[in-house]
Amino acid sequence: RPGTHLAVLGRPIAHSLSPLMHNAALAQMAARDPRYRDWHYHRFDIAPEDLPRALAIFHEKKFHGLNLTAPHKVIALDCVAEIDPAAAPAGAVNTLTWTAKGWHGANTDGHGLATAIRETLDIELRDSHILLLGAGGAARGAAGECLQRRCASLTISNRTRPNLDALLDAMRPLAGGIPLSAFQSFSPSAFLIINATSSGLRPADEPPIDLAALTPRPLAVFDMIYNPPQTPLLAQAAALGIPRANGLSMLIHQGARSLEIWTGETIPVEAMRNALQEARESETRR
Ligand code: NDP
Repeated sequence: RPGTHLAVLGRPIAHSLSPLMHNAALAQMAARDPRYRDWHYHRFDIAPEDLPRALAIFHEKKFHGLNLTAPHKVIALDCVAEIDPAAAPAGAVNTLTWTAKGWHGANTDGHGLATAIRETLDIELRDSHILLLGAGGAARGAAGECLQRRCASLTISNRTRPNLDALLDAMRPLAGGIPLSAFQSFSPSAFLIINATSSGLRPADEPPIDLAALTPRPLAVFDMIYNPPQTPLLAQAAALGIPRANGLSMLIHQGARSLEIWTGETIPVEAMRNALQEARESETRR
């Protein structure tokens, strides 16, 4: 099809809301600028072993930009021609742009996280004490962002110790004097919890930490999960009266930053938010 094509690649991908929110933004951009009338955002189910071949095909088909979601964010580092220096600490890329040199990889998750925490909780990562839950890809990006934005301290908790140690080792060169430790040595007086585990995706999941057992209580809880909108961790925060937010705002802002990279335009973030809101409301009605 003629036009400019964008897509998200992942496995599974059928649940992805990215086409909905990106196409809503593109429709609004097209209304004020005809150049965007022929821009389309798609989704493709790609197995991890097929990613290198898929990236070559997406170039042949003249795709301009790609978002990557699980399980491609880390393995894509070996498939891109260039990596944005700011993406290096995360060790993962979620936004590819075709350039004269090949695919250029960037990571917009950290921007999405920091913007969402500011927007939903009125908290800046800079100078905050942070307790990060998880040591997977999302936690790696979050830890890098917290340290790059000069948080006051970063304490990390994870279900399994080897993954925690690997994350602490990867982050040590970035800390530059910022206290960085495993959860056992945790002592700040006012802190933000960021849940970057996948615990909470299923309603029966145990919260990844027992908020009621924490003294002092956290200032606020940010859960990267957005579906379901209320995880067991957020439900516990609500019961304890702790300010909290889910990952919807992060999803929107990482997506908006990707679209900004591809178009160089200011992105109508509200159009993205409204599209997701409408999708959620129609889901609830069904
Ligand atoms: P990974 O699979 O890379 O990592 C999963 C992490 O969760 C690991 O630390 C793992 O611990 C931990 N974990 C898994 N199950 C449990 C459990 N039952 N109890 C406690 N810990 C558990 O996933 P990602 O890092 O890619 O993603 C994590 C979450 O972040 C996902 O839910 C994803 O949807 C969300 N996310 C949201 C974004 C947004 O825009 N809002 C963007 C990116 C991610 P262990 O090391 O012990 O296995």
